[in-house]
Amino acid sequence: MLPPQKIQHGWLSPVRKISSPHFDARPDSDDISLLVIHYISLPPEQFGGNFIDQFFLGNLAPNIHPYFAEIYQQRVSAHCLISRLGEVTQYVSFADRAWHAGLSCFQGREKCNDFAIGIELEGSNNQPFTAAQYRTLQQLTTLIMQNYPQITPERIVGHSDISPGRKIDPGQFFDWQRYLSGISA
Ligand SMILES: [Zn+2]
Repeated sequence: MLPPQKIQHGWLSPVRKISSPHFDARPDSDDISLLVIHYISLPPEQFGGNFIDQFFLGNLAPNIHPYFAEIYQQRVSAHCLISRLGEVTQYVSFADRAWHAGLSCFQGREKCNDFAIGIELEGSNNQPFTAAQYRTLQQLTTLIMQNYPQITPERIVGHSDISPGRKIDPGQFFDWQRYLSGISA
C-alpha cells in the first residue's frame, strides 16, 4: 500500500483502517499539539501476525501466550502502528483521544493523551527498527505536522520522555537524529 497522502476528518488515506473501541473524545478538540513515539511487539520480540490489532481491539486471546494472559484485559490503543514493512494501520481518528500514554507529563502538563497523537512502531528494545519504518514515520510525521501545525519538532517525544521511570520506549535503538533529519514541516 502507498504511504498515507492525506488526512480527512482525522483519518489517513490510503491506509489500513481498523477501528478500535479504545478511545474517547479529546477534552479540547482544538488542542492536538504533541506527537508521542512508542514501540510494541506481540508476543514480545516477535514481529508479524495480527496480535497488535487484536490487542487494540480488545480481542487478544489470553491462552495463546503467557504474556497475553497478563495484558489482554488492558484497554489501550494508539492512533497508528507502523509495521516492520513500513505499512501503516490506523486504529483511532486523530480527532479523538487514543489511550497510549497513560500516566504522563509533558512540560508540566499531565494526561498527555488529551492533546497527543500516538504512533507505535512494531519493535522492541533489542532490535533495530527497519529503514522502511523510518521512511514511513518521516512521511507520516510530515503529513501530521502539515495538518496539525501545533506539533513542531520540539513537540515530538518518546513515551520514555513523558513517562520516565515507567516506560522505556521507543528505546535504545530508535535513532532520533535519523528520524528528525528526515521530516519537513
Ligand atoms: Zn509506549
